[in-house]
Amino acid sequence: MAHLRFNALDIVSKRTTDRIEAPSNKISDYFAQDVFTLDQMKATLAPDVFKKVSSAIDKGKKIDMETADQIASAVKAWAITKGVTHYTHWFQPLTGSTAEKHDSFFNAQKGIEVFAGSMLVQQEPDASSFPNGGLRTTFEARGYTAWDPSSPMFIFGRTLCIPTIFVAYTGEALDHKAPLLKAVEAVDQAATKVVQLFDRNVNRVNASLGCEQEYFVVDKALFNARPDLLMSGRTLFGHNPARGQQLDDHYFGSIPSRIYNYMKDFEIECLKLGIPISTRHNEVAPSQFEAAPLFEDINVATDHNSLMMDVMRRVAARHDLEVLFHEKPFAGLNGSGKHNNWSLITNTGVNLFQPSNSARENLLFLVFLVNTIKAVAENGDLLRASIASASNDHRLGANEAPPAVMSVFIGSQLTAVLDELEEKGNIKIDKGDNMYMKLGIDKIPQIILDNTDRNRTSPFAFTGNKFEFRAVGSDQNVAQPMSILNLIMAEQLNEFHKEVKAEMQKGTDKKIAIVNILRKYIKDSKKVRFEGDGYSADWEKEAEKRGLPNVKNTPRALESFVSEKSKKLFAKHNVMTPEELEARNEIYLENYIMKIQIESRLMGDIALNQIIPTAVKYQNTLAQNAKNLSALKLDNSEILKNIELISGYTKDLRSMVHEMIEKRKELNQIDDTTLRAAKYCDEVKETYFDKIRYAADKLELYVDDELWPLPKYRELLFLR
Ligand code: ADP
Ligand code: MG
Repeated sequence: MAHLRFNALDIVSKRTTDRIEAPSNKISDYFAQDVFTLDQMKATLAPDVFKKVSSAIDKGKKIDMETADQIASAVKAWAITKGVTHYTHWFQPLTGSTAEKHDSFFNAQKGIEVFAGSMLVQQEPDASSFPNGGLRTTFEARGYTAWDPSSPMFIFGRTLCIPTIFVAYTGEALDHKAPLLKAVEAVDQAATKVVQLFDRNVNRVNASLGCEQEYFVVDKALFNARPDLLMSGRTLFGHNPARGQQLDDHYFGSIPSRIYNYMKDFEIECLKLGIPISTRHNEVAPSQFEAAPLFEDINVATDHNSLMMDVMRRVAARHDLEVLFHEKPFAGLNGSGKHNNWSLITNTGVNLFQPSNSARENLLFLVFLVNTIKAVAENGDLLRASIASASNDHRLGANEAPPAVMSVFIGSQLTAVLDELEEKGNIKIDKGDNMYMKLGIDKIPQIILDNTDRNRTSPFAFTGNKFEFRAVGSDQNVAQPMSILNLIMAEQLNEFHKEVKAEMQKGTDKKIAIVNILRKYIKDSKKVRFEGDGYSADWEKEAEKRGLPNVKNTPRALESFVSEKSKKLFAKHNVMTPEELEARNEIYLENYIMKIQIESRLMGDIALNQIIPTAVKYQNTLAQNAKNLSALKLDNSEILKNIELISGYTKDLRSMVHEMIEKRKELNQIDDTTLRAAKYCDEVKETYFDKIRYAADKLELYVDDELWPLPKYRELLFLR
């Protein structure tokens, strides 16, 4: 096996990289060239058909079959001119990646290319192998995919991809997108009602999202020589390299040329697909990078993030690289997240999180700011659940990770504004008074954007004109956290609206009513605001005093997902039924168990098949050496000590692996998924993983480098 490592090192040392040329110096020449955009529709559809489509997209309305037929025919003609032969409904099942099943346009019976509206609108993938949490077996229903016209069709390779949702025939959602669309609708309705207290012209509020995607890149040959990376996406073993990220020299440093070419290549592909990718830079850890497109409508941004990850994987192969989206591929180094920049924007173009020069608009801004804080304060547990996964647990509440407490950072300027509002709120305001001035909210510095105290340790931070949900995992589909964020915001805004209306009915002036309710909210939600170092141990203690939940692992986090409170909330806003939540919970728990089980098995395999035999081999060499020394009557005590050390760690490793296997067998007998997941967490992962790793990593340190079978951290991280 050792030769695999050296073979890989040899390959890496001979790698070359090709300069990537963009199709044109002007991105606008090729941006969205593979997308059936609105412009494209306008150019190819009859004017009355186009009008129907665009208004349906705008208002989220259904498209009738006749119109669908015309669109299908137009998109087919467009796609065929671009060399496309197949089409697929493209969707995001609960497995965590994207799914597609390609069908040919060619109809052998008719001898021509056919694409009817019915094929565009609905498809029935043989979906029995997608996770459904028991939904389809219980209801004996099949699943189908349904076209989502609000996200444009695109060409990937030679296939026309049609973004769809995936649902059971009985209506239950089987994917990530269906609940998101509903949550977005809920927040639209609630936010519009609230904005209309200020401006009657607004009739729609759109949620926007910009994802900053972090990732690691390693050479393909080295990756292939690490069974753990290959099968679980992270290194389960690996002694800390002498140099990690302690020099802080990677962040924003110059990008290595091979990676640069890779980035440029996938960016071009993304741009052709209409993904407005705009930012690239190194991240904190060696071999860690970030890519971020400009924000878009949340629905499109979600599709684009999944698509971008897919493109990044495929393009990496062209460069003999492997991209790692796992949240913690390397122990001892920074993990990867996906900052979800989120805002609410009216159809009149006002970003509701944008402080302004006008006092009136600032009251509206404060309404949205304070309601968001309140929503997080009331539903921190649900937000935590929304980002729970076996891999993201490494970034939340683990050894090297910040505590899994959901808190909100708003910066010192806004803190001062809220403090003042809280204090001064009860001053009397007479007719003719400038209420805004009296309350100190007449001028909020508009450019909070540039504020210096950007806090990188907060899981949920206000960054000038948007909130940034940073605890989202790099490998996650963002639909789930975004569904939950928009859902809790919808609930909060409805509540606020109701309270304002009730006050107004009692005869209170609207503005006064709003301010009074905000004051109450500021007080009630103060506990969730935290401006300090979110990574510190002090914060963990402080958070506990404040009564904030700090849930360290997925099985426990998911309890909030299926709590009575959560079920009521989801049902009230028509986002998911209790049955859908239960099914999803089941899927997530099973997924958690499988992930831990796979890692545990891999640890066993690698320890028994690779590490222990290597250690034994080296031990024999040492034993021979000890014998030789003793034959020469020379002191061999040092060697003997070494042998003892190695044999000690080898013994530990072997016995712990066997114990862990027995434990797994025992736990696999447990029927109850919730209990099995909790036990896999406590009795497999928490009990054995670190200890087994410790012994293996010690052996890596003591065993002759020439025998060691697994590419080492320094090789994975610094060679490219
Ligand atoms: P930083 O790393 O400083 O947080 P970046 O520029 O890397 O900032 O990423 C910021 C992300 O936030 C980008 O995707 C950007 O388009 C997005 N963004 C900017 N303004 C908004 C907004 N109003 N709503 C949602 N996302 C936004
Ligand atoms: Mg950011």
